Amino acid sequence: MNIDELEKLFKDILQNAQRAVSEASQNELNDLRTKFLGRKGEIAQSMKLLGKLSQEDRPKAGKIANQTKAKIESFFRAMKPEQKLLHTKNDYTLPGRKNISGGSHPIRLVMREIIDIFYGMGFSVASGPEIETEYYNFDALNTPADHPARDIQDTFYLPKDGYLLRTQTSPVQIRVMESQKPPLRVIVPGKCYRKDAIDPTHYYTFSQCEGLYVDKDVNLADLMGVLTAFAKKILGENVKVRFRPHYFPFTEPSLEYDFSCPVCNGKGCRICKGTGWIEISGAGMVDPKVFENVGYDTDKYQGFAWGMGIERIAMVKYGIDDIRLLYENDLAFLEQFPHPFGCF
Ligand SMILES: [Zn+2]
Repeated sequence: MNIDELEKLFKDILQNAQRAVSEASQNELNDLRTKFLGRKGEIAQSMKLLGKLSQEDRPKAGKIANQTKAKIESFFRAMKPEQKLLHTKNDYTLPGRKNISGGSHPIRLVMREIIDIFYGMGFSVASGPEIETEYYNFDALNTPADHPARDIQDTFYLPKDGYLLRTQTSPVQIRVMESQKPPLRVIVPGKCYRKDAIDPTHYYTFSQCEGLYVDKDVNLADLMGVLTAFAKKILGENVKVRFRPHYFPFTEPSLEYDFSCPVCNGKGCRICKGTGWIEISGAGMVDPKVFENVGYDTDKYQGFAWGMGIERIAMVKYGIDDIRLLYENDLAFLEQFPHPFGCF
């Protein structure tokens, strides 16, 4: 190895580098930098050959090596963004980029389905304020002043006297009856708030769908029929409904109702906690005192009402065992849900 050979070697490297950098796409630049300037790159490898030269040629060769290196560095610096773009090689055989579109939240999906089912049974949809008065949330619904639901431990009261975050969608029943004469069939989907400690089945905010049916000659069998028809539509033909006596201030008689677990067909599983049943909510015949509060003729009209927890139904339908997943907005969780209805 003599100085002339080495000089030619560096010249070749310089030419190769110039061509390679000018033709490179943006993605390739880093690799090229390593190839020419890296610790084990072509310049570094060639500099090792300096040791094979005579003592007097070494300084000259070192200078050539450093100049070559500096020039190659300048090629990389000269690659301005627009030049980089110009040189970016497109691979038209790659699959197209997927458009990222928003989906519907599972609660929204279920709510939409519930609305569709009741709409098919002749119900219309009503809504009302989430900031309510004590009158609509409790008094008009025949809830006595000392009822535990009114406790400050359970209800979010607002600083303005007499106002609260509604604990149920039932106050909308009163608002609807105040503005419409019977007969009526209405459902009220919406958010409610209670001071519940957060755990796998409780959250301080949740969604309900309230239903109210008022007409002449309405009885408990009609209520049971509506809820049974709904259960089969939302969770499948095999689902059974179980009614249990209960007490609510605004219905008489009052019931709680459960759907048989569609995941295990009533045998018992993780979702129904081994019981085979899913507690949905309460229902009953509207207490005549509630009708009196809105000026309905209690001799002429009867009605039934029910509530249902939307999270509960979503959890059964999608096999979700922790309600918190529905509120944490974790994209990995949310992206599993289809959005067959498009935007809503
Ligand atoms: Zn089950």
